[in-house]
This record gives sequence, C-alpha cells and structure tokens, in this order.
Amino acid sequence: MTIREKILVIEDEKSISHFISTVLNNNGYEAMQAQTGEEALSMISSHCPDLVILDLGLPDMDGLDILRSLRSWSSLPVVVVSARSHERDKVAALDLGADDYLTKPFGTDELLARVRTAIRHTRTISGNDEIARNGTYTVGELVIDYNKHQVRVRGENVHLTLSEFRIVALLGKYAGKVLTYDFIIKELWGPRASGDNQILRVNMANIRRKIEKPPPSRSISSQRWASATAWRRAADPLRCPHRRMKSSQPGFFMRFLCIAPQK
Ligand code: CA
Repeated sequence: MTIREKILVIEDEKSISHFISTVLNNNGYEAMQAQTGEEALSMISSHCPDLVILDLGLPDMDGLDILRSLRSWSSLPVVVVSARSHERDKVAALDLGADDYLTKPFGTDELLARVRTAIRHTRTISGNDEIARNGTYTVGELVIDYNKHQVRVRGENVHLTLSEFRIVALLGKYAGKVLTYDFIIKELWGPRASGDNQILRVNMANIRRKIEKPPPSRSISSQRWASATAWRRAADPLRCPHRRMKSSQPGFFMRFLCIAPQK
C-alpha cells in the first residue's frame, strides 16, 4: 500500500482551493478541502491530516482562531497562505504557531517547497538527529522510512495499515520517551477521539504481530510468553531504560517505545 501524506486545504475561494489541491495531488500528496473554519476544525479532528494549508480570510472565522485552537492540542504543521502581506499579520500567525507564511499570489514550486520544509521540520521536533538528517529511524534490524512511508525489518517491507504506520512513525519520533495513551490518541485521532484506548491497543497488538516475527524454531507458547512480556514491559515506563535500544532484535523496538497508561 502506498501511503500519501494527507494535506487539508482550508480555503473558501473555490478556484484557489481547487488549484492548490490539484498541485498537491499531482505531487504525491492526498489533498482534502474545507471551505469554512467550522468544517476545517471538524475535518482536522476526524481526518488528522499530516499538514494544513490555511487561508486567514474565511467566511465564518479568522484563520488565526483556527491556528489558536489547533495549537492548544496539536503540533500539526500549518502553512498559512494569505493575501494579507503586512508584516504584522505574518508575525501574528508565526507567533501563534504557524510553521510558514506564504503571501498570495504564489508559484507552484514555492508552495511545494514550503510544504516539504514544514513536513521535514515536524520530524525534528523530537530532536532525533537521524530522522532529521535521513528521514529514517533505525533500531537494530528495524527501519522506519519517513520519506517512503515504509517500515522494514531485516530489509523486508512490513505491510502496515495507515493507522499502524502512523503509530510506529509517532513512536519512532519519540523513541526512548514515555508517551501516554492520551497523547498518542490525540496526536493520531484528534482531540475529539474517544478516551477509550482500545483502538490503540488493537493497533499495537497488530503492529507487534507484524514486526516481531519470532524465529521459526520458537514454540507457540514461547511466542505468547514473549509477546506478553514485551507488552508488560512496554506498559511499564520504569522498565524502559535507554540501554534496551542497543539490542539488534526488532522486538526490542516495541519494548523501548514506552507507553504509559494515562494517570
Ligand atoms: Ca479567503
């Protein structure tokens, strides 16, 4: 499966929205469109895009209010695209957390360059040098390729669903850090997602099954034991010291990607 980065275009002028979306779709992204602020906020929380392109002049609310609302729960990259060219407008948007500001009219190449840059910057948020440098994260025999949206174990592509890839990508970005269920659910499924972590548990179990393939010589009972042990360790932040990262076994990946239940 090819996973394409989802970009939400928030723009009330249909011709501009259509133009931007066509450019994005023709360049390997999956564009979605919202014409009002209300629709945009609803789509952000239901579709969890990878990036937002935001026009400031919307019919029902100012784009800056969308930015303010979004920044209260998410670090999702936002590129503002606006006819407002005054310096104070740019400063206000950047101070509220916009990643970039593009003044209309703009060229296709410049738009694509700003999108690429904003997406690249989000990979450096966790301070992971390898992700920032190469777009990949490696632990033992497991490689997360953020550019190709692939996870490989021993050089072989692991077939993950979109949700599964997004979870692994997020965990890789914050490897070695303790993440709460609440944080992961909000990052992946938005602020309106149910607090029930069952969906995350199911996805995690599937990911583990796919990337932690044990050697064929192992008996089924030992597989079950290993899986249960890995889960208990993952659920206990105190059992996730950084030294585990030195293991060459992919299974260790899940063990140091610590998930702490929400207190
Ligand atoms: Ca507008």
